Amino acid sequence: MRLSRYFLPVLKETPSEAQIVSHRLMLRAGMIKQQAAGIYSWLPLGYKVLRRIEQIVHEEQQRAGHIPLLMPTLQPADLWRESGRYDDYGEEMLRITDRHKRDLLYGPTNEEMITDIFRSNVNSYKDLPLTLYQIQWKFRDEIRPRFGVMRGREFLMKDGYNFDLTKEDALHAYNRHLVSYLRTYERMGLQAIPMRADSGPIGGENTHEFLVLAETGESEVFYDSQITDLTFGGREIDYDDPTACAAVLEEFTSRYARTDETHDEALFNDIPEDRRKSARGIEVGQIFYFGTKYSEPMGATVVGPDGQRTPVHMGSHGIGVSRLLGAIIEASHDDKGIIWPEGVTPFHVGLVNLKQGDASTDSACAAIERELTANGLEVLYDDRDERAGAKFATMDLIGLPWRITVGPRGLANNKVELTSRRSGQSEELSPQDAVARAVEIYAPVLARSFKG
Ligand code: ATP
Ligand code: MG
Repeated sequence: MRLSRYFLPVLKETPSEAQIVSHRLMLRAGMIKQQAAGIYSWLPLGYKVLRRIEQIVHEEQQRAGHIPLLMPTLQPADLWRESGRYDDYGEEMLRITDRHKRDLLYGPTNEEMITDIFRSNVNSYKDLPLTLYQIQWKFRDEIRPRFGVMRGREFLMKDGYNFDLTKEDALHAYNRHLVSYLRTYERMGLQAIPMRADSGPIGGENTHEFLVLAETGESEVFYDSQITDLTFGGREIDYDDPTACAAVLEEFTSRYARTDETHDEALFNDIPEDRRKSARGIEVGQIFYFGTKYSEPMGATVVGPDGQRTPVHMGSHGIGVSRLLGAIIEASHDDKGIIWPEGVTPFHVGLVNLKQGDASTDSACAAIERELTANGLEVLYDDRDERAGAKFATMDLIGLPWRITVGPRGLANNKVELTSRRSGQSEELSPQDAVARAVEIYAPVLARSFKG
């Protein structure tokens, strides 16, 4: 992509309405525009990162054997009357009446609708286990939308639902989700710690929230510092193996880690003092097992092996897709701007031409752009007729992890510069070697993608 033809409305001034760094940087980098309280347009750069995050979520869900579908944003109120949540949900639910005076609502979550889809189409235990998921916009009329996309009213969520014959099978689905979430967040360059949480209006007994530690987080958390040493890494796991999935759950949840809702001072004080930590965290996902809470009242049953109808055991599992942009920026920035992890960066490489219009730099840049693109990398080429300083400032602000800088002086010695946004360090390389290095850097990132 040539920057001269792109739409990147960066702001010079720091917007005064933004209280936290991720919100400020998203506005300054021209990623979002607020349209109403907690409701945003996703401008091209923001949209591109949103799509990358969605892609990782899709891939990791499908790797775990979960099946994508898409439900509407508007739902009939009657479904929610069946579960009893139409009245229980409260003011966060946006209620709408259509021209025929039928009650609708903009879905804050989808347990009722997915249960309806299940009961209309599945009859036998032989069709289980089944996990369906979607990535769809939700609306919650939050009392205090704030911090940009972190607490929006309209926000994008991955919501998945498992249907199983027995509690044991449903707990395997729960564990499978935990593993897939660990992989998902790590691919985004994030450490998200599973913490025992409270189930809130979804209901149920087992639930963990995934938290990214950050000062600006809205949740208060308490944990054993040893938990921050755990990483899932590149290990392969057989998602159909309940023992293997349970072992990961055990590994990642046996140390103390809780949100304030479930915090237990006595248990916490059993941890050696130097490992006792309290901090703030951003909730980027949550998994629930709630048994037959929805299947029973809504009649989602299957014929079991014994010929009897039984309600299915269910759980639901959410990832805050749009909130993740804010969380990633909170975890990865400096005073010049965003620093995207390689897994989610909107463009893999930023290409800066120091002397636009000079025949040799122009053609060297065009060749580098062509080569990178041919190797599957996306390039943002700053081909504007601007000062070098302005070009660097834009690249630093939008946070592409790698920059290649091309100028006539370097080219005279067949050199360009490859710069890491994170370390700020530069290497002088021939154009061919710079391309080869960038390809090599991104090879593991691209290799982690999953074609279902
Ligand atoms: P919170 O406690 O932050 O209000 P929640 O527990 O009500 O969130 P869930 O029902 O667990 O939310 O939704 C799944 C995920 O969706 C959350 O983990 C979070 O990442 C994201 N999410 C929830 N509410 C919002 C919001 N208002 N704006 C952006 N993302 C949200
Ligand atoms: Mg939650």
